[in-house]
Amino acid sequence: MSDRRNFVKRSFLSSAAMLAGSRLLAGSGNEPQEKKYNTVKGKPIVISTWDFGKEANAVAWEVLEKYGRAVDAVEAGVKVPEADPFNQSVGYGGRPDRDGRVTLDACIMDEHGGCGSVMALEHIVHAISVARMVMDKTPHVALVGDGALQFALENGFHKQNLLTKKSEEEWKDWLKTHEYNPVKNIENIKPGGKHNHDTIGMLAMDAHGNLGGACTTSGMAFKMHGRVGDSPIIGAGLYVDNEVGAATSSGLGEEVIRTVGSHLVVELMRMGYSPEGACKKAVERVLRYNPGNPRDIQVGFLALNKHGEYGGYALQKGFSFAVRGLSREEVIEAKSLT
Ligand code: ASP
Repeated sequence: MSDRRNFVKRSFLSSAAMLAGSRLLAGSGNEPQEKKYNTVKGKPIVISTWDFGKEANAVAWEVLEKYGRAVDAVEAGVKVPEADPFNQSVGYGGRPDRDGRVTLDACIMDEHGGCGSVMALEHIVHAISVARMVMDKTPHVALVGDGALQFALENGFHKQNLLTKKSEEEWKDWLKTHEYNPVKNIENIKPGGKHNHDTIGMLAMDAHGNLGGACTTSGMAFKMHGRVGDSPIIGAGLYVDNEVGAATSSGLGEEVIRTVGSHLVVELMRMGYSPEGACKKAVERVLRYNPGNPRDIQVGFLALNKHGEYGGYALQKGFSFAVRGLSREEVIEAKSLT
């Protein structure tokens, strides 16, 4: 076929695809019409889950302000809570599983669709950097358990005891009262409330307009040994599509996996929903599988689109996120369904 005929065919196909896309939006009855929230003009920008995201954002910002890549910024940023012994839901100092073992889940995505993850990794503080290495140095996406540990040790990471005294004491207390049953749900994750798991999910857009995301956690406290949550699962705990936006989540991982939550949020943004609107829709999807008002479940989503607009939404009150942009540094209480 001649170049011209090829060109005409390609143009026809792309206009047909655009028409189909606009029909899909126009005809769905679900047109995204909500007002846009939380716009930061200009890039770079970094956002992350929870109040403790603020310190993590500050380190990510150091990379972003030097025109570094978003993926490098998010890796550097989430290493802050990973190394913090007082943060009992991420990395070193994380609460153990019901057998007393600290097992970490983490994943990372870059602007090219590259992704890496580790699941149920023990003894290594910076699970996110192992995930990064899985992405950069292997033909695989995910390594689990002993295999992930072996890979980490072969690549220069050092073994360390991740169980702090405080987390060990809490686990021993839990053993007495919970008769060796794993905690299945989460109760209102408000500071001072029953606080059994909070992941850090971080999303950034760099000065070049490229996106990256990272997510890392010690997961549900006192979980069954081998339990993996949403956080290291690409599409569930994190998703980045450099054409559209990025999303991450925190809360009860089983519910986020069931709804492929972060991928859902990104696809909703592709349809035209604002980040907050997309997060809200995804929370409603979680609710569809849990009708009523399930007070024992918390799920929160956070999203950033290619225009630098961001937003979050949660099932219950108490979900917060931290933002750092050229003109803004703050912690925001996300809206919620209840
Ligand atoms: N989503 C994580 C998990 O279920 C934990 C959390 O965000 O609190 O493992």
